[in-house]
Amino acid sequence: MSPYPHLLAPLDLGFTTLPNRVLMGSMHTGLEDGRKHFSAMAAYFAERARGGVGLMVTGGFAPNIEGWAKPFAGTLATHGAARRHREVTDAVHAEGGKIALQILHTGRYGYHPLCVAPSRIQSPISPFTPRELSARGIERQIRAFVRCAALAREAGYDGAEVMGSEGYFINQFLVAHTNHRSDDWGGSYANRMRLALEIVQRVREAVGPDFILIYRLSMLDLIPDGSSWDEAVQLGEAVAKAGATILNTGIGWHEARVPTIATSVPRGAFAWVTRQMREALRARGVTAPLVTSNRINTPEVAEQLLADGSADMVSLARPLLADADFVAKAREGRAQDINTCIACNQACLDHAFQSKIASCLVNPRAARETELVLRPTVRRKRYAVVGAGPAGLAAATALAERGHEVDLYEASGRIGGQFNMACRIPGKEEFSETLRYFGRRLDATGVRLHLDTRATPEVLAALRPDGVILATGVTPRNPRIPTDEGAPVLSYVDVLMHGAPVGERVAIVGAGGIGFDVAEFLVTAPGHSSTLDLPAWLAEWGVANPVEVRGGVVPPRPAPPARQVTLLQRKAGKLGKGLGKTTGWIHRAALQMKRVEMIGGVNYERITRGGLFVTYGEGRKDGQLIECDTVVLCAGQEPLRELQAPLAEAGLAVHLIGGADEATELDAKRAIDQGTRLAAAL
Ligand code: FAD
Ligand code: NAP
Ligand code: SF4
Repeated sequence: MSPYPHLLAPLDLGFTTLPNRVLMGSMHTGLEDGRKHFSAMAAYFAERARGGVGLMVTGGFAPNIEGWAKPFAGTLATHGAARRHREVTDAVHAEGGKIALQILHTGRYGYHPLCVAPSRIQSPISPFTPRELSARGIERQIRAFVRCAALAREAGYDGAEVMGSEGYFINQFLVAHTNHRSDDWGGSYANRMRLALEIVQRVREAVGPDFILIYRLSMLDLIPDGSSWDEAVQLGEAVAKAGATILNTGIGWHEARVPTIATSVPRGAFAWVTRQMREALRARGVTAPLVTSNRINTPEVAEQLLADGSADMVSLARPLLADADFVAKAREGRAQDINTCIACNQACLDHAFQSKIASCLVNPRAARETELVLRPTVRRKRYAVVGAGPAGLAAATALAERGHEVDLYEASGRIGGQFNMACRIPGKEEFSETLRYFGRRLDATGVRLHLDTRATPEVLAALRPDGVILATGVTPRNPRIPTDEGAPVLSYVDVLMHGAPVGERVAIVGAGGIGFDVAEFLVTAPGHSSTLDLPAWLAEWGVANPVEVRGGVVPPRPAPPARQVTLLQRKAGKLGKGLGKTTGWIHRAALQMKRVEMIGGVNYERITRGGLFVTYGEGRKDGQLIECDTVVLCAGQEPLRELQAPLAEAGLAVHLIGGADEATELDAKRAIDQGTRLAAAL
């Protein structure tokens, strides 16, 4: 008996059958944007086809230049380009998989001067103002969509996805917010949805009946003046009747001020929207399968959503970057072995927005399948790894996977290093999944784990290893602020690791990633993380049912802060500039909602029993006492590598990774990547 009967059930589409209910949602990896990346893209999708995904969707390809996401973005508009895609489709088919190409026209979200839109209205997330299309111009865009779909078929794809959500081109026609036209393409809803229908109808005519056509329907815009629920249902019915095989869920325009996929978003937070749509469409006689999406990262959550009738399929995107074998492991009853996506965005979406090839924090091989290979070793060697934080765990398990003999020493009683603090932060509970995964990997790969064992030069020399990998991490930096006797000062480690009591008014020294996290921890009442309470989270971010409110947004109603917190930094300017590209705004908005005061440009003069005395600017002016009963230091970190010199003196080969190597701008992405790459090279 399968542990996931709904997830693993085949889906009959009439002309073809999908082996299970997992759709790999479209993700822009950057591999789409250069001819030289096609072999890498083929290997990336082939690995996921081998892992058993039912149907995969590529990252977005523009149907023409006007539709580019950025200059020279991946485009499918010629027979020559279609021939290049053969490498991808052949590789997927050789593994028994199925793949659809996403057609993405970005409209006014295009980051280039050639972008076009229904009306000349600039988006808040692009510096370029789009050109308003003429009626002939609209016809040219429709023809480009049709040509792109036909070329996808020619290239061997099993289907195409028309991107109709997330605030892109088609979405821009649908709502009055971005469509001010008064011709046949604007005004009434029938006119505004005409573009979507023309595209679906004409694509279907061009590709024939036996080609999977997915339409990504914006079910919840999360912008004021977004589509009403009746409009979304009307469109869903019309595109299904016009020839869409599958309806996928789109949640939130990119310019929405509600997080939709970050780690603080509860799992399956938007499945209720798909469920509501599915019920409405079934009542109108529409039988097309519906896919639900957003923050579905375990087989249990996916199975539950399928079992309770929320959808016919689940879209997993980032979870398949994190683990290409997600489906195979679920099928084999090995869900505990899945490397779970923790929704951090650090190596995937953040990379995409920085024009870097995407990867995955917990799986640095993602989109690097041809480059980062863990080959079985020819000569088995013995390695000692010191420190079981992310860097040491990655190195130890990858070395053992290659066939080396590995001893891993950890001074504390558990694996994980600083990740044990990260997962105590409200909204980051998910990070504990990575520790569960590495725990399983240690067992599976046969690493000998020595907990509660502080490695010393003597212990290590006695092991006679071929090499020692120092992954001993960091120590918190002491900013050496003059402090009065008895003044209440704690470090973030005291607060997060040792549960030190903290007063009602707190000043935090340092506003990096850890300062922000500590602030979030301190303003949230224990046991009240909204990430674990969907109704509270929806209220906190002002998400309403679109049946009741057009666009589904209302003013946020956050819970009151548990404490009064002031967050400080020495640099002048906005706090949190160095936070994640796609998540920094969420951390800032969350703390603003909890009335955290953020102050930049300070000098820390003295910590007294009454609080923290600061001055401002280079002239050290305007002295002010920030009254508080606790000061928490989050002033960065320094490498801990006291073992390096004695080990080198003892003649041992020493390799430094993670924080032990470099503490500046250290994060788990670098730590895991460095550990894995070292293990691949040794
Ligand atoms: P560490 O995690 O510091 O691990 C070092 C380990 O070595 C420790 O377990 C220590 O006990 C052990 N050790 C030291 N000396 C010895 C010895 N002599 N013998 C045996 N064992 C020894 N990063 C992100 O990428 N994203 C985030 O969202 C994020 N959030 C964070 C939130 C918080 C609150 C904190 C504190 C950190 C966060 N980080 C985050 C940072 C991330 O956790 C670190 O970058 C990462 O843990 C560094 O890994 P590491 O293996 O180099 O070191
Ligand atoms: P950080 O991001 O480097 O921030 C250190 C903070 O301390 C800065 O605000 C800095 O600002 C201040 N500071 C530095 N030296 C100081 C001194 N001598 N006196 C007083 N203040 C000082 O480091 P972190 O917050 O410790 O985080 C460590 C790493 O974990 C980071 O690299 C981060 O990437 C990672 N992390 C990531 C996330 C995430 O969400 N992605 C979350 C948590 C942690 P001023 O110099 O302006 O005062
Ligand atoms: Fe998930 Fe983070 Fe990996 Fe992206 S980088 S796939 S969000 S774990």
